[in-house]
Amino acid sequence: MTTNLQRVAVVGAGAAGTLTAAHLLLRAAEQGLGLDVHLVDPCPGTGRGTAYATSAGHHLLNVPAGRMSAFADAPDHFTAWLERRAPGTFAPGDHVPRGLYGAYLDDVLTAAAARPGPARLSRVRDRVVAARRVGPGVSLRLDGGGTFRADAAVLALGTFPPDQSWVPAALRPSARYVADPWTPGALAALPEEGDLLLVGTGLTMIDVALAVHHPGRRVHAVSRHGLLPRAHAASALPAVPPPAVDPAQGLTTVRRTLLAHVSACRRTHGDWRVGVDSLRPVTATVWQGLTPAERARFLATDQRLWDVHRHRAPVTTARAFAEAVIAGRIEVGPGEIADAEVTADAVRVRLRDGRTLDVAAVVNCTGPQAEIRRVGDPLVADLLAAGLADPDDVGLGFRTTAQGRLRPAAGADPAPLWTLGALRRGSLLESTAIPEIRAQAQAVAASVTAVLDAAHRAGTRHDTPRGATAERPHLAYAER
Ligand SMILES: Cc1cc2nc3c(=O)[nH]c(=O)nc-3n(C[C@H](O)[C@H](O)[C@H](O)COP(=O)(O)OP(=O)(O)OC[C@H]3O[C@@H](n4cnc5c(N)ncnc54)[C@H](O)[C@@H]3O)c2cc1C
Repeated sequence: MTTNLQRVAVVGAGAAGTLTAAHLLLRAAEQGLGLDVHLVDPCPGTGRGTAYATSAGHHLLNVPAGRMSAFADAPDHFTAWLERRAPGTFAPGDHVPRGLYGAYLDDVLTAAAARPGPARLSRVRDRVVAARRVGPGVSLRLDGGGTFRADAAVLALGTFPPDQSWVPAALRPSARYVADPWTPGALAALPEEGDLLLVGTGLTMIDVALAVHHPGRRVHAVSRHGLLPRAHAASALPAVPPPAVDPAQGLTTVRRTLLAHVSACRRTHGDWRVGVDSLRPVTATVWQGLTPAERARFLATDQRLWDVHRHRAPVTTARAFAEAVIAGRIEVGPGEIADAEVTADAVRVRLRDGRTLDVAAVVNCTGPQAEIRRVGDPLVADLLAAGLADPDDVGLGFRTTAQGRLRPAAGADPAPLWTLGALRRGSLLESTAIPEIRAQAQAVAASVTAVLDAAHRAGTRHDTPRGATAERPHLAYAER
């Protein structure tokens, strides 16, 4: 058994960071590893992040409870937790409130931290703004001052705030413009009366529209394509094997094969969703088999259609939305913002097709900024500038190994840095939902512990962790 603790910083305490920390602690308990896991995030909650911080009962998971277990090899783990928490309330096919899922992830981590063994967990409330390789480890600079030395770090940063480049200059500084609807309190600050314009027509827009529509108000939602996410099926669907797809034949053939498979599933099972859902196990392999130019072409021409069929709305949410559309309270269609004029009590928005909308406020529902060079995050910018991270072929995230370890820029030395979740979208395409994140968290934890174990055996670990955390008391997890 190892008694010297090796320090791992997990940066980001959303679902990805929380699951990674849990897997690190579980491995440590199983293997008697001395790990000192620090979960670093300025946000107060653990396991919440953007998706699961909400306490609104109508904000539902987009994925049925039966597919949201924290552990791929224990598919009933979440539904068993729900049954203990609220007996007889939820079935595996239900889309449960997202806030409950955040509480579940917090419990998963608490249980992992309670396992007997030499490992320990601390929660640090701060933001990491820079990283440097120091000897075999890394030094992380904290926003609150000081540095934090670790033998390894996992970057579970999630997604980044929406792109603002399309926003007319007059609108950007206005109190009548919401730059990111997921900022706590952002929607509460909207005017209670008057029509609203939501820009973007995806799942974020649906959540926002349902939260703000009411009789006497019209909510306009526009996007370049005007496409809406499809709804989940009302009942469980059969699982079928994925089709045989050879990405070496090129995007056109891949597209044709996938469409034929989905059509065949619709004919056989009466629902196209059966075909789309069956693609999950082969998505990453097919994506990686396309050339960078084909992947870029897919993102430009196919991604929106893929997204609306792949990332669907819960049935009850889709029904409530459809009712509001029929009642004339929500109106969705194609449209691009040309410019905007802000007056004392309204915003006049001109669309490129010549239409004009007079609204009380505009909400940016375009979703997270996807281009890694444009996210404007200090840590991302620093990692790229230092060469510790390198953009992937399509510029959506970082280049990594299959286990999620960062590949440095050409000529730079690799650092003990790993990532998962949205920052791996460029290499996996689908990398932001729990079924993908839980598998990545397990793989990252296995890779980190293997590398640290090898370093420990070779005698190259930091013997004395130094820096900010050594100088200030540890925040015990139980005290958060
Ligand atoms: C509204 C919404 C609903 C969703 N619903 C579902 C669903 O039902 N099912 C599903 O499978 N997926 C869903 N998703 C997808 C969702 O992205 C994942 O399930 C998951 O929440 C992603 O977690 P994450 O930890 O990668 O990112 P996030 O939740 O974004 O968490 C990242 C965390 O990292 C912290 N952080 C970032 N940078 C730093 C830094 N430099 N230093 C310290 N901390 C930092 C942030 O403060 C944040 O807490 C939903 C997403 C959204 C937005």
